Amino acid sequence: FTSPGNNAVLVIGLGRFGSSVALSLARLGHEVLGIDRNADLVHEWAERLTHVVEADATNTDTLRRLGAADFDHAVVGIGSDVEASVLTVLALSELNIPDIWAKAISDKHGRILERTGAHHVVYPEATMGERVAHLVTGKMIDFI
Ligand code: ATP
Repeated sequence: FTSPGNNAVLVIGLGRFGSSVALSLARLGHEVLGIDRNADLVHEWAERLTHVVEADATNTDTLRRLGAADFDHAVVGIGSDVEASVLTVLALSELNIPDIWAKAISDKHGRILERTGAHHVVYPEATMGERVAHLVTGKMIDFI
């Protein structure tokens, strides 16, 4: 993956959220480099994404060796391991990636990510919870 195109996306953490983002991007025609430290997940996604690499994304040198600095877009799907999430965003920020997206599992986590260099912070559980609440109340009219 020596010279990714402008539309290529680096997706770090191929858990439920990250793998869903990665697969959707791949289906939309984007080159995707997936990175996860879990060998089983790397194996599982190897055939469906452009490239998948087993690595610890908290290490800036490792990311640089993988060519991460050449990407314009990165998505960090690490959530419950807050330390790994923050260190990964910091490493991407040190590589001057211009468009860093990161998932947060709480407001405090999100505030740290913004300070660490994430350009966009998303809260999948909170956002989906709100949406479902709206959908449920919207359907209540059907029962009147
Ligand atoms: P989800 O809900 O999306 O499944 P999660 O919020 O539970 O994920 P984690 O389990 O912390 O988040 O991380 C998601 C993925 O990120 C996992 O597959 C994990 O192996 C990977 N991951 C965690 N830390 C690192 C790291 N330092 N380098 C690379 N991958 C990592």
